[in-house]
Amino acid sequence: MKVMKFGGTSVGSTDAIKQVVSIVEKAAQTSQVYVVVSAVGGVTNQLVSLSQKAAIRDKSYEDDIAQLKTQHLEIFEALTGFTTDEFIDHIFTQLTEVCKGVFLLKELTERTKDYILSSGERLSSYMVNAYMKKQGLDVQLFDAREYIITDKKFGGANVIWQPTTQNFEALKQNEKQVNLFPGFIASTLDKETATLGRGGSDYTASLIANLLKADELEIWTDVNGLMTADPRLVRQAKLLEHVSYEEALELSHFGAKVLYPPSIQPALDVNIPIAIRNTFDPEGPQTYVTKEWQDGQTIIRGISSIKDVALLTLTGPSMVGIPNFSARLFKALSDAKVNVILITQASSEHSICVGISQVDVVLAQQAVDEEFHAEVMLRKIDPVKIETDLCIVALVGSNMRDHVGISGKMFSTLGTNGVSIKAIAQGSSERNISVVIAQNHLKKALNTLHESFFLSELKKINLFVVGVGNVGKAFLSQVRKQQAMLAKEFRVDIQVVGIANSKQCYFEEQGMDLTKWTELLKTGDACNIDGFIERMKALNLRNSVFIDITASKSISAVYQGLLESSISVVTPNKIAATREMEKYLSLKWATKKYGSQFLFETNVAAGLPVISTMNDLFKSGDKVNSIQAVLSGTLNYLFNNYDGTKPFSSIVKDAKVLGLTEPDPRLDLSGEDVMRKLLILIRESGRKFEMDQIAQVSFLPEACEKAKDLDEFYDLLDANEAHFQQLYADANAEDAQLRVVASFKNGEAKVGLEKVQKSHPFYFLEGKDNIVLFYTERYDEQPLVVKGAGAGAAVTASGIFADVLRIANS
Ligand code: ADP
Ligand code: ASP
Ligand code: MG
Repeated sequence: MKVMKFGGTSVGSTDAIKQVVSIVEKAAQTSQVYVVVSAVGGVTNQLVSLSQKAAIRDKSYEDDIAQLKTQHLEIFEALTGFTTDEFIDHIFTQLTEVCKGVFLLKELTERTKDYILSSGERLSSYMVNAYMKKQGLDVQLFDAREYIITDKKFGGANVIWQPTTQNFEALKQNEKQVNLFPGFIASTLDKETATLGRGGSDYTASLIANLLKADELEIWTDVNGLMTADPRLVRQAKLLEHVSYEEALELSHFGAKVLYPPSIQPALDVNIPIAIRNTFDPEGPQTYVTKEWQDGQTIIRGISSIKDVALLTLTGPSMVGIPNFSARLFKALSDAKVNVILITQASSEHSICVGISQVDVVLAQQAVDEEFHAEVMLRKIDPVKIETDLCIVALVGSNMRDHVGISGKMFSTLGTNGVSIKAIAQGSSERNISVVIAQNHLKKALNTLHESFFLSELKKINLFVVGVGNVGKAFLSQVRKQQAMLAKEFRVDIQVVGIANSKQCYFEEQGMDLTKWTELLKTGDACNIDGFIERMKALNLRNSVFIDITASKSISAVYQGLLESSISVVTPNKIAATREMEKYLSLKWATKKYGSQFLFETNVAAGLPVISTMNDLFKSGDKVNSIQAVLSGTLNYLFNNYDGTKPFSSIVKDAKVLGLTEPDPRLDLSGEDVMRKLLILIRESGRKFEMDQIAQVSFLPEACEKAKDLDEFYDLLDANEAHFQQLYADANAEDAQLRVVASFKNGEAKVGLEKVQKSHPFYFLEGKDNIVLFYTERYDEQPLVVKGAGAGAAVTASGIFADVLRIANS
């Protein structure tokens, strides 16, 4: 014999009920079955809500009843062809009368509420029975209230085993092929209707399985089984094909509501295996829950969560002296019917901290205030402190107790995503570690933990890109081309969630289709940088990376706040890294404190690995003593192409057209851009340095530096063409090349035009190449050389991409 329980969604519509009946019919061909059904999906919640409305004299509860009646009659008609039904009328008449009483008395007791809630299961079982009969099944409907006897703890009554066992004895002789019970409902010894607590239909089924010694218990629901996390919150959740009772208990205790926690116990007591199956995928995979099962490998089996939790903390220096302190606290809470979900490790001699359901906050506060009134007056303890809008996230796994380092990994995973932990608890079974965090971080926390503990999963990186000019475009196109390969070969799923230009922004939480980002952006909303950041923060996604591909000062000003919100920043924009040393240090400090990263490899020599090489040297214990570099692809291009035959200004204009200059080429020609790069290199080598410590010898005639705008600048270049011709001729006479060289030696930094002889590595620098020579303790005679293309949209974009991958791999 087997027991099959069908949850709310499984009986949530006509089609679903038909599906249920066909599943039952098939099962009944090979064994006798006991079928337990929940109320139609959502109905119990609606009954709770309408009864509460009645209690506060909100007359709209009447409409809610009428609407429920229509809903049931519609299903009933579709199943049986009848438009009216005496029994259904009768239930709604009773419901209306009881609610009227609640309305008049302005009082809703737990007992009355249980009666009201029982309507849901009474209706659903009646309708399923009618349809089964119509389909010709050999079925009998039982009223669970005549069999399951409980105490008077309405709202979550406890079964009294002796009379219940006796009642079921009679059923052992029953030979009906299909036996149908409403779940969730029961009655007290004096025949008052009671319920077994929310989600309690699972318990009804498990209880029947126990009492009738079923071979198997099947819980049919709307998912294929118990998963590594709630699939509604974690898209990557995977099915657990086999779990132990203990693991299932622990997962469900911490919120995997697919199984109601107490429901496992009766089946566990007599060793009946539980299968969790999907009504809408009956042939699909499922979860088996059995005794003492271990897969021997996975340490963490699943991650559960409970929403709407409050933390209640009692603190006081003199708590040690108060006898039975914690016993009194727990008794006060239990007398007030407040369920303690978790007791945290913060509980010590001086403080005790428990997690409760948020709906119980008022009751809990009253109970604790009353119990410890005297102690609070005497200042032995502080008034109870309550924090709300929290949730619990728990890692569950039987093998956990033998492994160290799990909590460390959990905390650091959360920490790098800016999720701060309010409290920690390790279950005494050592099968779980749970943390209390702010509710708005729930989804992010679950997803990031899921990625970090289920290794084969893809790690998702969520990008927010501001600036879609040449480099931005090239970057988006590189991401689009590499996405699939990175996911397949490197297990990183890089998605662009937000993009913006100076006027508009577009967001897509799951990541946008990069083949049509231009059109998508056009459909986006008008927004400025503040609006963009606000929306990005509201999404609160794990592994968020902000990518600034602008040269804007105001955008660089947002980095500090982002890094402090644990959002990493990648940028070719040099402004932030070249402001006052104090500000630069403050950005670095934020990355350390909040686990974010600030990467700007493309600030120096575009995609060439200059900064990362230096960081690697530094980390491996080397020290950079001096630096010599040609850092401007633009200037290099100019001096490689200028030979006096065409005016210098026309070469500058060519470079601008080729995208080799800053938007304003004067920044390149003045040497300022090179100074910024040198400053960044010096800072990244671990030294404190400011821009004004760099000596600059300009090669421009003084007049040119005073130009008001770009046009005037070009005119002035032409007016001074002789100056450039002279520079060229001088170099040529010595068979030398002109290079703007940046150097740092003995604490002194300078940038200036130099004549470089053939014997020097700087002589042969093609087109827009950059070169950096690092003289370090290890490379003291022969420098470490990094050389290659140092400008251009594609190489800069690939440098940005490399930074993103550094974050993905960290
Ligand atoms: P029923 O109405 O069938 O009793 P419930 O809504 O009570 O169904 O439980 C099924 C739901 O439990 C699923 O739709 C899923 O969103 C949720 N759930 C939460 N955690 C888990 C988990 N770890 N595995 C599977 N489902 C889970
Ligand atoms: N209908 C009840 C509830 O929603 C019992 C159940 O579905 O298990 O809580
Ligand atoms: Mg349920």
